[in-house]
Amino acid sequence: MRYSQLLIPTLKEAPSDAEVISHKLMVRAGMIRQLASGIYSILPLGLRVLRKVEQIIREEMNAVGGQEMFLPSIQPAELWQESGRWDFYGKELLRIKDRHDREFCYGPTHEEVITDIVRREVRSYRQLPLVLYQIQTKFRDEVRPRFGVMRGREFTMKDAYSFHANEQSVQATYEDMKTAYNNVFRRCGLDFKMVEADSGTIGGSFSHEFMVLASSGEDAVVFCDACGYASNLEKAAARAVSGTPASNGAESLAEVSTPGQKTVDAVTGFLKITPDKLVKTLILENENGLLAGLVRGDRQLNPIKLKNLLGCEWLHPAAENVIQEKTGLPVGYVGPVNLPLPVYADHEVTQMQDFVTGANKIDAHFTGVQFARDLKVEQVGDLRTVEEGDPCPHCDGGVYQIRRGIEVGHIFVLGTKYSDAMKAGYLDENGKEKTLVMGCYGIGVGRTAAAAIEQNHDDKGIVWPVPLAPFQVVILPTNYSDDAVKAAADTAYRHLTGLGVEVLLDDRSDRLGVKFKDAELIGFPLQLVIGPKNLEQGEIELKTRNTGESATHPFPAILDRIP
Ligand code: ATP
Ligand code: MG
Ligand code: MG
Ligand code: MG
Repeated sequence: MRYSQLLIPTLKEAPSDAEVISHKLMVRAGMIRQLASGIYSILPLGLRVLRKVEQIIREEMNAVGGQEMFLPSIQPAELWQESGRWDFYGKELLRIKDRHDREFCYGPTHEEVITDIVRREVRSYRQLPLVLYQIQTKFRDEVRPRFGVMRGREFTMKDAYSFHANEQSVQATYEDMKTAYNNVFRRCGLDFKMVEADSGTIGGSFSHEFMVLASSGEDAVVFCDACGYASNLEKAAARAVSGTPASNGAESLAEVSTPGQKTVDAVTGFLKITPDKLVKTLILENENGLLAGLVRGDRQLNPIKLKNLLGCEWLHPAAENVIQEKTGLPVGYVGPVNLPLPVYADHEVTQMQDFVTGANKIDAHFTGVQFARDLKVEQVGDLRTVEEGDPCPHCDGGVYQIRRGIEVGHIFVLGTKYSDAMKAGYLDENGKEKTLVMGCYGIGVGRTAAAAIEQNHDDKGIVWPVPLAPFQVVILPTNYSDDAVKAAADTAYRHLTGLGVEVLLDDRSDRLGVKFKDAELIGFPLQLVIGPKNLEQGEIELKTRNTGESATHPFPAILDRIP
């Protein structure tokens, strides 16, 4: 392609709201533009990169037997009512009405839609297992969209769903997915860790996240180099906490979980997790004992994290939403962390009249919890904390390390959560009706590209890993109006294009300095600099972006050794 014909609006300055380097560089390199908060237009250069990520994902999904399909982004409310998520998903779900006043949502994920298809189209165990995936646009009305496409509201996700006759079969596919995901992120040139995450509804280690290590990450990864154990922080904390059930109430919750309105007359509890992340658990009590817990910390916590921290099996998905609504704060925000506890509790009490709680039985959550007027506030004390340097509980002699991470992928064994709710079954060998067992597997496409930039950049711009680069080679004629230079540049362009190399010919009449700056900013792995002086010697200059090394080589012979 010729630079002069492409829309690559590079910028000297990053937008003022861009906090992380990938956001700044994606905008400056002319890859993306914001249309509205968390909603981005992907420009030609950006799309080339996203397509690279998608193609790698596609190849690895196909390699484990995945079948690509494409599902609608607009989904009818009925399906979500069937699964029970319509009421519980909260404000992240963008709800819309059509002209007939029928309710729909813009899909944040596709378990309901895919389960609906499979329950209609799959009848027999002979059709199982089945792995279906798509690469498609999602919408989640995130409380705090930020970091460009890393946490957008509209974003592209690869989501895969698998359907099985039994637990064993889903486990096998889950293992395949682990391999596929490791391949995807390795091929994208990322430094990442596969970590244990919340196991969802089943128990055991059936959920893993793929975390790209980067200081800008919103998540934290706990790992031990001695034994190789790695988990996200919540999982590690939940493990630590579950060793001290009396103080966080995990056990007593099971006994008292029955739905209905309750009066609370004591608030106790205090839980510190890491030095830079304070999370408070309020344990609510009345004369009958412990009622529930409520967690807030200094960052956004999703329901799974809340559930882990509370140590309860089931968290009403509306909890996060209700907390946000009542306080006007994103879940997890507590303001100054050293606020005196009584004041903190008072703030809770006056503003959280009817939140929903965790429970140890499905649908046994308290809703509309009322606070009695006189509240006793007690600090139970610090529970177990997970900190850098803690002895690893999984081996002898190892210690925990903690790093920031970006969640780029997440795999899950779902069990029968959706197939039960939506009555998705199959006939087994004996013609008996059985419930399908499911797994689901997601990757954020834009987030993966952004994470690659977080890990591969310098003060001049992006340093693309070759597999993700929008073009592998840029040809930089020092003066394209010079006949000899133009002829050599055109030759190089034709030759490399013919070899299947993705080449961008910078045929612009701009100053050479501008062209160099853009090439560094965009981060093409290889620059071919063609100038009259070198040409007279029968040479051109090759410059490698990641090492900064440059050397002259005989032209045109060198062309056969690229890339
Ligand atoms: P997060 O914890 O960051 O909010 P999530 O756990 O809600 O992510 P999943 O439901 O597991 O996300 O979705 C699968 C993948 O989709 C994530 O691992 C991530 O790569 C991507 N993803 C999720 N939310 C966003 C978003 N708002 N913008 C871009 N990518 C996202
Ligand atoms: Mg989320
Ligand atoms: Mg997450
Ligand atoms: Mg996730």
